[in-house]
Formats: sequence, structure tokens, C-alpha cells
Amino acid sequence: MPEAVRGTLPGTTLPGVVDHHVHLGLVDRALLADGPVVEVHDLGWDPREVAAWAAAPPSGLRVRYAGPFHTAPGGYPTGRSWAPDAAVRHVVSPDHATAAVADVVAAGGFAVKVALHAGMSLLPDDVLRALVDAAHAAGLPVLVHAEGAGQAERAIDSGADTLVHVPWTEPLPADVIARAVHMTWISTLAIHDGPGGSAGLELALDNARRFVAAGGRLVYGTDLGNGPAPAGVNEREIELLGTVLTGEALRRAVLGPLDAAPALTAALPMPDTAADLIAWLRASTRLPR
Ligand SMILES: [Zn+2]
Repeated sequence: MPEAVRGTLPGTTLPGVVDHHVHLGLVDRALLADGPVVEVHDLGWDPREVAAWAAAPPSGLRVRYAGPFHTAPGGYPTGRSWAPDAAVRHVVSPDHATAAVADVVAAGGFAVKVALHAGMSLLPDDVLRALVDAAHAAGLPVLVHAEGAGQAERAIDSGADTLVHVPWTEPLPADVIARAVHMTWISTLAIHDGPGGSAGLELALDNARRFVAAGGRLVYGTDLGNGPAPAGVNEREIELLGTVLTGEALRRAVLGPLDAAPALTAALPMPDTAADLIAWLRASTRLPR
């Protein structure tokens, strides 16, 4: 930091916000330039398109991407109006799973995204397991969209690394939570925050609290592009995360590793609550790189 800047800012510095769950194809990417968000993880898109955005990102933003959703033929999100054909990879066999993971590696993906959505076609256990094994053999984590009865439990027991949404469709039994503590769960709590409250939000918060109490890692992610949330910091997401985490745990969840290089500065004390963190981010400016 230049001497003159340091002299005028009695405040604090922190790394920038990391949004662990976005869909850049569904937002105005330019709005993410040089704001408090310094890194986003795109969790489902045409790998060629998202690789091009990552190679030439908005100023001050690091883009990492998973590439396509891996799902059963006819499985989620097949046929959804927002999902381009190339964002969905149908996997029909264990051999096909190995080939699909090799394609993620070739496309520069940082993770293998898998969809398990009850009520649509589902990957069978052997294909799911083959995706996990092939991803891990390639050094990539497996990130699962698990929705509906039993699907979070299947993801947990498959050896997958991350749930891209805190489970919101059912309360997970204590023994299932106990088997999940090796995982990271991405918050996406605000997407359930409908007018008049939402049963899904209450279920998600209850699952999240018990997961964190058991020792699991919960991180900030917004599912940006799904719904009307604005590009940038989602303050409601931080507010909801702040009902589960406080202090350093909250800062680590929203900002990524706290030993990362500082990216932001604000003339405010170190924030400990969600309200303080929101105010801090509003007041923050980017440090010169
Ligand atoms: Zn998503």
C-alpha cells in the first residue's frame, strides 16, 4: 500500500469475498469488476464459454469453473430453459464417467459438478462412485447439487467433497450429519428466503447449524444467476450465514483463507458479526494491486 494511503486509513484490511457458487452465464459479469468480490466459482455452464470468461475476466476478479453438470440422461438440469445443452453432460456408465472427468481436466475445470435431483432421472450408485473416483484420481473435488429425499445422504456417502447447497428439502438425521463432517457445504441460504418466510430456509438453517456444530466447514455462496439477486456481495446471504457463524469463523466463510493477501481496506474495526461485516464491506475499497 502506498505510504500516503496507509497514513490516512486507521482501519483494517481483509482478503476479498469469495463466492463459492455462481453462474456467470446468467448475470451481467461486468458488474463484478473491482468490487469486494475477488473470486467466484462457476458451478455449471458450457465449459468452452466459461473458460473464455475465466481467461479474460472482469477487472480484479478471479474466475474458477467446474464446467458442465454431470447427470443421468434426462436428469437435472436437462431441459431447464437457463441451461445450455453444453452445460449438461449425460453420464451413462462408469467408463463414461472416467471420460467425462478427463474432459473436465482438459477444459481446465477445478472441480467435477454432479447433480442428484429426486423427481428426475438419477445417476445410479456405480456411476456416481465412478465419477467420484475418477475426479479424485485427477486431483479434483466433487461438488454435488443434492435435492430431494435421500439425495444429500447419497452424496455424503459417495465420498463427494462438497454440497453446493446446504440441504434444504429434508432434515438430515444426526448420523448422516456425522458422516458429512469431512465436507464443505456452500450456504446459498438466501435463495430460500421467499416472501413470508420459507420452510426450506428453516430446514437449511437447522441442517447448517448441526453440521457446523459437528465440525463441518460452511462457506459463503450465493447461486448468483439463480433468481434476482444482484451481482456482487449478497448482503442477505451474509446476514443468514451470521445466524450460524460469528467472528473469525464468519470472516473465514465469506472471505476465504484469512492468511490470503489483503485485497480490501476499510476505516472500520475488524468485523465480528454479520451486520458489522456488511457495513465493513460497504465501506471497503480495493487495495492497489
Ligand atoms: Zn447453482
